[in-house]
Amino acid sequence: MIKWFKRFIKKLFHLEYEFLTSKKDESYFNSIIIMDKTPNEDSLKEKDFVEVVYRNQSYWAIFICPCGCKNVISLPLQKNHNPYWRLEHSIEGKPTLYPSVWQNKGCLSHFWVANGVIEWCGNTGIEPWIAEPNYYEKPKR
Ligand SMILES: [Zn+2]
Repeated sequence: MIKWFKRFIKKLFHLEYEFLTSKKDESYFNSIIIMDKTPNEDSLKEKDFVEVVYRNQSYWAIFICPCGCKNVISLPLQKNHNPYWRLEHSIEGKPTLYPSVWQNKGCLSHFWVANGVIEWCGNTGIEPWIAEPNYYEKPKR
């Protein structure tokens, strides 16, 4: 019985270890790069996450779309923008964004950024106004 229990505990720890390490490997953005002005798009590298901060005020979150389309995504972080995003720094210095990011042209990627991890939504790749017609309107061009 004790032997069985020991084996069980060992297995549990092993699972937890695997869980933690797999979580770690999933991380896409490992840090937040603070800049005091908007970076040149060409200087951005894949998996860079830039926060533009000037005089203690957050202005933009800028990164390359994680789907591989190479588009640069710039999200306003100021409350006077509509919409605007909230950026949180985790203890490890990784970014979390609220709400999700949904590209309304090009790749139409829809994902969350949670503690540096990209969490893809089931409706990624679909136009927001088709997937969620109650919440989104087709943008006028
Ligand atoms: Zn994309």
